[in-house]
Amino acid sequence: MLNVINVHKSFNGIPVLKGVSLRVKRGEVLCILGPSGSGKSTLLRSVNHLERIDTGAILLDDSYVGYRRAGDLLHELKPNDVADQRADIGMVFQRFNLFSHLTVLENIVEAPIGVRHESRTSAEARGRELLTQVGLDGREDSYPSQLSGGQQQRVAIARALAMDPKVMLFDEPTSALDPELVGEVLAVMRSLATAGQTMLVVTHEIGFAREVADRVIFMDDGLVVEEGSAADVLTNPRHARTRDFLGKVL
Ligand code: ATP
Ligand code: MG
Repeated sequence: MLNVINVHKSFNGIPVLKGVSLRVKRGEVLCILGPSGSGKSTLLRSVNHLERIDTGAILLDDSYVGYRRAGDLLHELKPNDVADQRADIGMVFQRFNLFSHLTVLENIVEAPIGVRHESRTSAEARGRELLTQVGLDGREDSYPSQLSGGQQQRVAIARALAMDPKVMLFDEPTSALDPELVGEVLAVMRSLATAGQTMLVVTHEIGFAREVADRVIFMDDGLVVEEGSAADVLTNPRHARTRDFLGKVL
């Protein structure tokens, strides 16, 4: 499904991703752990072509993310085509990134109508279903500022799901939340995982990773240091750097 192959990325000559490879299979949940600055967000943003990688490749099924293949050449996609491709890749950020001047339902239907040219009626019907799914039945006319952080983040999840993405990317979706609001967001993510959604999740929530992840990756300094089942990586880490990190967050 998602195949990241030997990706390198530098900012102003400073390497941030130093040859990252990973695969996520259909229906799989892969959690990425790692210290601040290790390149987790850059990796996720690259998967969504919010960052342009220097070398390597990112494939979603048979398409190159950000590029179109013509014979042996890759041509960078134009912004409209990038938007079409991003429809397959849902992303939820640390901050909620909702449009503050739009209601909850307007936030959710914006992309299905604007990018996929769905009718308003069907987009709104699906939007209401998604709100029920994330536990926000009846909140469609609220504005983001009228919701708690946890509720806003659940709207952000519903908004990403509205495009029926092949894969959902989560970048520390609970780390900006008050502690008492973390559980409700993790519960929605857990139910998505159970329903078979393919997910790539950057998180410091070790309990969530242990319970939900099919596989866990530990990144440090732009590289995948360790990869395995949640039990292997979290309970019996092989590398000193993984042990150090887990010692600090657990
Ligand atoms: P955190 O856990 O704090 O979110 P992270 O693992 O997500 O960290 P990244 O945000 O990917 O780390 O950043 C990796 C490195 O790349 C950092 O040193 C950061 O300063 C640098 N970096 C990220 N984005 C940019 C940018 N747009 N321009 C310059 N440097 C950047
Ligand atoms: Mg980050």
